[in-house]
Amino acid sequence: MAKRLRTMGPERIETPVAVIGLGRFGSALALELQALGHEVLGIDLDSEHVQQYAPLLTRTVTADSTSADAMRELGVDTFERVVVAIGVDLEASILTVSMLKEIGVAEIWAKAMSDSHGRILTQLGVDHVIFPEKDMGKRIAHSVGGDQLDYIEIDEGFAMAKTIAAPSFVGKSLTELAIRREYGVIVVATAEGDVNYMPATPDTVIGEGECLIVAGPKDKLETFSRVQ
Ligand code: ATP
Repeated sequence: MAKRLRTMGPERIETPVAVIGLGRFGSALALELQALGHEVLGIDLDSEHVQQYAPLLTRTVTADSTSADAMRELGVDTFERVVVAIGVDLEASILTVSMLKEIGVAEIWAKAMSDSHGRILTQLGVDHVIFPEKDMGKRIAHSVGGDQLDYIEIDEGFAMAKTIAAPSFVGKSLTELAIRREYGVIVVATAEGDVNYMPATPDTVIGEGECLIVAGPKDKLETFSRVQ
């Protein structure tokens, strides 16, 4: 069966994941997990969403995730990892999470629409609370701001960014530029244009218009991205 991707190689079997809620966020997450080789069970109350993703996921089912009986029947209690991608319906999100705890799911990921929603999910014992809109807004601000092409926050103070090499760097190696000492950040990878990224070494010489992947404290990254 083409959709069963579990046997990607003899040495690695990806963990099956149940994704509850196949809205824009849940469906994108489910499809990416499937592409990564996980078996994915997609659950949604809306049968149109279920039909839409049925050909693309290992299994899809129309069901109400607030019902413990329905979830047990589907074997959700046997999944090690479950993602609750319900945001707008706060009650459904909270009831689903508390039911998943009750039936003994080991690792729960859940989407939150607000800080207070996130706090409740944490209090209920959700292992990973995700704020997709907030996180994406923060990330895009760095591109809109103009100095960074992409940006991922690793934690409160540390991030990774994609930026264009400053003209003053061109023709010099990373050793010559002493970027870590001068700017307090590390160049992780470089690419001509925005394709074929290569891990950076001390001998990497920066070419004109190259893209750099840089990691470091957020304030230092901002300063580095503005160097001309
Ligand atoms: P997104 O921004 O991801 O598109 P959305 O706007 O579709 O989300 P959400 O409330 O976050 O709205 O719901 C995500 C999905 O969860 C929807 O497809 C919805 O049908 C489904 N859903 C809501 N309640 C339940 C429930 N009790 N059981 C199963 N699925 C549910």
